[in-house]
Amino acid sequence: MHVVHGPVGVVMTSDDVIQGRYARQIVLKEIGEAGQRRIGDAVAVVAGLGALGTLSAEILARAGVGTLRLVDRDLVELSNLQRQCLFAEEDARASLPKAEAAMRRLRQINSAIRYTPIVMDINPANVERMAEGATVVVDGLDNFYTRMVINEACVKLRVPLVYGACLATYGSAATVIPGETACLHCLFPDVALAAAPPLTCETVGVWAPVAVVVAAWQASEALKIASGHAAITSRELVHVDLWRNELTRLPAARVPGCRVCGARKFDLLAEPARLATASLCGEHAVQVVPPPSFDLDFDLLCTTLARTVHVDRNPYLVRFRAGDRDVAVFRDGRAIIFGTSDANEALSLYGKYVGN
Ligand SMILES: [Zn+2]
Repeated sequence: MHVVHGPVGVVMTSDDVIQGRYARQIVLKEIGEAGQRRIGDAVAVVAGLGALGTLSAEILARAGVGTLRLVDRDLVELSNLQRQCLFAEEDARASLPKAEAAMRRLRQINSAIRYTPIVMDINPANVERMAEGATVVVDGLDNFYTRMVINEACVKLRVPLVYGACLATYGSAATVIPGETACLHCLFPDVALAAAPPLTCETVGVWAPVAVVVAAWQASEALKIASGHAAITSRELVHVDLWRNELTRLPAARVPGCRVCGARKFDLLAEPARLATASLCGEHAVQVVPPPSFDLDFDLLCTTLARTVHVDRNPYLVRFRAGDRDVAVFRDGRAIIFGTSDANEALSLYGKYVGN
């Protein structure tokens, strides 16, 4: 086998290199050299790097998507490793943010494409910057509020979005081509946007193989879009339950009066920023997000904390114990309080140790 080593962040464009690495993809009559070049020019956003996001990101990186924006708010935990394919025990020991750990692993897999790791909570204040200029956004999120915020941004900016979700042994996927197909608000108009859904992967678990099936569907749709074949993406909502051996395809028609893709009213994007909390799916933990105006002096915080508690820090975050809770504070001022699902307790600890 012909192996090519290139400098990190440099896209190798010679035909020899492209044909060597991507030969089995180029020979597909559906892709060809023209499709491969379009994939190389594409910018894909992977929003959320849990099971779905890491699996999709690996397929997209191996396929040669030119630029990958890797977005996640969380850090790697041991309980992620059962299903989140880019992470290893060492990443959990080092408390690495998932976006950073994912990029390190993907660079070992394909050093010839560009990566932009973004450690942040996706919210109305930053979602449009995240999706701007993207060829496609892949949904690897764990909650419907953020998913609906991204849906509004993608419809507003006319960026295709590939939805995916999984829980327990079932999962679903759908593709949003703004202006042509149903958006997520058409499909789920009444979805509760509460921070904590009634069922989470923490309480009912996730069967890793179903995440692989859903992520494969999403990556396939994303690669169709990236290679210039958005017209043949699915127009249905697919649902799979691997335990019950069921595959269901439901019609996903646009709703004429849809607030988002019909009236183009983007209510979630217009919401003012505030100090907010969210339970993290899959963990007994609460995230606290300060408003964009909050300006944290990270080094000063670390110095101050170190006077009273033992701190572990890396370039991205500082971790410490607060009573019987474990707290991580990121450079941007966000915090994750582990060991509780109580938003008020999380806000109280945040105010005590970080301020607001
Ligand atoms: Zn719609």
